[in-house]
This record gives sequence, structure tokens and C-alpha cells, in this order.
Amino acid sequence: MSFNKIQPIPDVETIIREIPLPAGLGQEKIKRDRVIADVFKGHNDKFILIIGPCSAHDEDAVCDYIGRLAKVQEQVKDRLVLIPRIYTNKPRTTGEGYKGMLHQPDHQKEPNMVEGLKAIRRMHIRAFSESHIPAADEMLYPGNYPYLEDLLSYVAIGARSVENQLHRLTVSGLDIPVGMKNPTSGDPEVLLNSIQAAQLPHGFSYNGWEVSTTGNPLIHAVLRGAVNQHGESIPNYHYEDLVNFAESYLDRNLQNPTVIVDTNHANSNKKYAEQPRIAMEVMHSRKHSELLKSLVKGLMIESFIVDGAQKAFENEYGKSITDPCLGWEKSEKLIRQIADMA
Ligand code: PEP
Ligand code: MN
Repeated sequence: MSFNKIQPIPDVETIIREIPLPAGLGQEKIKRDRVIADVFKGHNDKFILIIGPCSAHDEDAVCDYIGRLAKVQEQVKDRLVLIPRIYTNKPRTTGEGYKGMLHQPDHQKEPNMVEGLKAIRRMHIRAFSESHIPAADEMLYPGNYPYLEDLLSYVAIGARSVENQLHRLTVSGLDIPVGMKNPTSGDPEVLLNSIQAAQLPHGFSYNGWEVSTTGNPLIHAVLRGAVNQHGESIPNYHYEDLVNFAESYLDRNLQNPTVIVDTNHANSNKKYAEQPRIAMEVMHSRKHSELLKSLVKGLMIESFIVDGAQKAFENEYGKSITDPCLGWEKSEKLIRQIADMA
């Protein structure tokens, strides 16, 4: 093999001993997880917003952002459940570019995955301790989940990972909601197959163990739009898209059918400023249809402190270095508008 072994990665116990969960947070997470699960099970009609930057590259800016989110959460708590995005490992379309804080604890320095693993655990702990709202992260490397298990309240499986066996089987053993994105091709059957697979119990090999899982009834769909063979974005958030998808979804008799609409990515064609319009359209569609009102339980929004995106070598505070995000003022206004319509 042409592998070059750089350094061994410490096991979960070692990392957690070095960076333990502060007292009290475990109880807070259990309470929050119950509220979130109730929304997915239809026991609570609050509306979910999974909101935050495309990638969390700067701990200070991320914690600043989530602190602002926590203040708004308090004001809209009767209608909305906010789950901050703290995405620390990023899939890349061509494999090039920033792969997240897990790889590069400082995005302007060399990669170091041991330091990265510690940095992401510290960032999640700080954000949760300061804001009291546990976060979402993307599962890019299924084996890494135990390093953050005590912190995460939501996991996303990205459009490029959704058909992967190990992702599906791993999340079949989680007891928190996991959003499966539609694949970049847009095929809804691939997405529904993934949901079906992860709701089933499985036996498989995981982190050096033969394991078995019970299946995860909180696995659900995230619609992020598609890209065709000409590289054009094909949205899947319009009324007819949602109704068609709902019919195929309900035909499968899956548990807790739920759609989260991603307002950025191929739904906005990464025109981040379109997100409020897209969000409002989805909220309006929910008003128009009882079916969509019960099925569409949330939105995923890419939002940060400053509008847009910058190159990784630029250094503007609170601005995304991956996908362009909606800035704070517009985001805050949008959250309130969504609360009024939810
Ligand atoms: C993301 O949520 O930032 C992301 C990478 O999404 P997708 O997998 O849909 O491209
Ligand atoms: Mn993104």
C-alpha cells in the first residue's frame, strides 16, 4: 500500500478523558432530545430549524453565532426548535478544498487530524455550554460518531454519502434524528431506500466490533435539490415536488415520515440570498396542504454572521469558507418570519 502512516488516532475513551463533558450538559441534552424527538414523532407541532454555517471553521465565530441563535430561540420557543449546524467535516464535490475542522483545526495551517478531533470536541462543548442548545453535525466518517455522541442532537447524511452502506447501518443504531439528503442526482427512490435501510435493525462490523442495532425510527428525508448532467440545479422544494415526494414516501409505510427542506445547495443554486424566499414558499405550501403541514416538519438553512462566502485564505470574521450563507441580520428576521407562519 502507498499509505503513509502519519500518527495513530487516540481512542474514544482517551479523548473523552482529556476533554470531558461538563457536568449538567448530559441532562440538558436528554431533555432537548426528548423535545426534538417529539416533533419528529408528531407529538409536538413545533417547527424545526437546523441552521448555521455550511462549515464551522472558526470556534469563536461559531460560538458567537450560536449565542445569537440562543437568544432568538428563547423568543420563539413556543413555535420553533432551533438546532445549530456545527459541521466539522465536509464532503467535497471533487475531493479538493477545505475538509473541515476535523482535518484542519486551523484552516490556514497544515492538517492534523488528532488535533482536529480534539478541536471539534472542544468547540461542540463550548457552543453547547454557552448556548444550552445542542447541535447538529454531518456524519462523514461513521466511525467517528462516538467521539461526539454525548454532544450531538441531530446528524445529517450528505448527498454524496446517502447511498453508502456503512452510513446507513451506523445511523440505524443512533437514538437521535438523522436526516438523509437526497443524492445529488435527485433520485427520490435512493433517498427512500436509505431511510428504509436505516430504520431496520442490522448486524455489521463497526470500529473493530461485530455489533447489532435496533433500527432508528427517527431517520427522515432532507430535500436539497438536484444537479442534472449539464450541471444545472433542479430544485425540489416547490409545492408539486413536495406533494409527489410525499406520495412516494407514504407508500413505503416508514416510521415517522418527515421532510426537512434544505433552502440552500441545489435548491437555491447556492444563491444564499434566495433562502428567505424559498423558506417562505415552503411555509406557504404547508398552509395550503394538510398533508404537507404534517410531513414538512422543518427547514435546513445555511446562515452565518456575514453574508456570502470567502476563499479559505481570506480572513473575514463570521463569513463562510465553504457554501455562501445568509448573514445574521437577514437570518434573524427570517427566523421570526418562519415562527409567525409555523
Ligand atoms: C451541507 O449541508 O453543507 C452539504 C454538504 O450538503 P449536501 O450533502 O446536500 O451537498
Ligand atoms: Mn453547504
